[in-house]
Amino acid sequence: MSDAFRRERYPYLRHNAERVYLDSAATSQRPDAVLDAESAFARTEYAAVHRGSSMATGEATWGFEGARERIARFVGAGEGEIVFTENATDALNVIALGLSDASAGLGGDELALRPGDEIVVTEAEHHANLIPWQRLARRTGAVLRAVPVDEHGLWSVDDLAGVVGARTRLVAFAHVSNVTGAIAPVADVVQVARGVNALTVLDACQSAPHLPLDLRALGVDFAAFSSHKMLGPTGIGALYGRAELLDLLPPARTGGSTISTVTIDDAQFLPAPQRFEAGTQPVTQAVGFGAAAEYLSGIGMDRVRRHEAEMAGLLVEAVEAVPGVRMIGPRAGAERAGLVSFVVDGVHAHDVGQFLDDRGITVRTGHHCAQPLHRRLGVAATTRASAYVYTSADDVAAFGSALAEVRAFFGADR
Ligand code: PMP
Repeated sequence: MSDAFRRERYPYLRHNAERVYLDSAATSQRPDAVLDAESAFARTEYAAVHRGSSMATGEATWGFEGARERIARFVGAGEGEIVFTENATDALNVIALGLSDASAGLGGDELALRPGDEIVVTEAEHHANLIPWQRLARRTGAVLRAVPVDEHGLWSVDDLAGVVGARTRLVAFAHVSNVTGAIAPVADVVQVARGVNALTVLDACQSAPHLPLDLRALGVDFAAFSSHKMLGPTGIGALYGRAELLDLLPPARTGGSTISTVTIDDAQFLPAPQRFEAGTQPVTQAVGFGAAAEYLSGIGMDRVRRHEAEMAGLLVEAVEAVPGVRMIGPRAGAERAGLVSFVVDGVHAHDVGQFLDDRGITVRTGHHCAQPLHRRLGVAATTRASAYVYTSADDVAAFGSALAEVRAFFGADR
């Protein structure tokens, strides 16, 4: 086993040696390599970037832009196609607000939405990939349509093709669901969307950290992901956009760093990515984000995926072994990402989470920012166990043994 898969490489996991961490879909633990890269940069190279002509600025800018290049390579993007944002949520808002501004005549006319145009999402979306589109629809008079999911929380490309129509201008969907763990058929969705000249927005929050990703090859127009879910720091994420689209999209936030010329009543914006990065940039975080991409590339994303597919198999087995526990998402044996959400008959998800926590196992409970999906499943909350590179078979075994006791503890097995 490569060292990168060992918990000893991760300070949080070393420090909390008795705890089993199964909440990586919420946020991931950083390895020494990433924390050290952030710290070394902050100690010896940190300065304002893209400002002035000092040697300090030059060095810091080199570190900042080097990080962008690493991230671009990691997801198969070209130069200038990666914009730093606060997180994935922010990236999705930047796209929606940019389209809203285009619709209001502030540039990028080709991207404008008109009343009666349609935006398509799925019922399984995270709120981050739903609410910005609700707002965009309200602002422009467009209509939001949702691809329905089945009783397991799943949708197919045929379901999607049934909702996409001649007026569809945009299709926004998650590559990997943070609740079901289902992996979307991205290339097929792109084909359907292109058939009607609609843009595609990929929420890659749960795929960039876990699967080999080549955004250009997939053919999506925009994508969003977060550093903190892929072994990097919080406070930074990325917006991917095809170069020609990013240069058309009006910037959602304006101010210093985004412009070429300013007069008292107008401003000319720089090309992407600078036109979107208003204000003083999160420089140290960018360096940490770049180090995380490099660390994952060093392991090899095929190996990351293989490890997580194995953990997913063990998680499914552990959940399916317990009578009275209903698993959400793909059935046993079908492909899924390294996470499993489930419902325990007769026990509220929060009690399940508390019980597991008392046994040293960290999981996530609640609606996981996907209320429409939970409503469709007929439950207010689920419990989710999610794995990453540092998750071991022992971790999953500890989770399985504790889960097997939950119903008896709460008297739900009688
Ligand atoms: N989309 C999905 C599928 C997610 O799982 C998450 C994080 N839970 C987000 C979007 C939002 O990510 P962030 O909070 O980092 O912006």
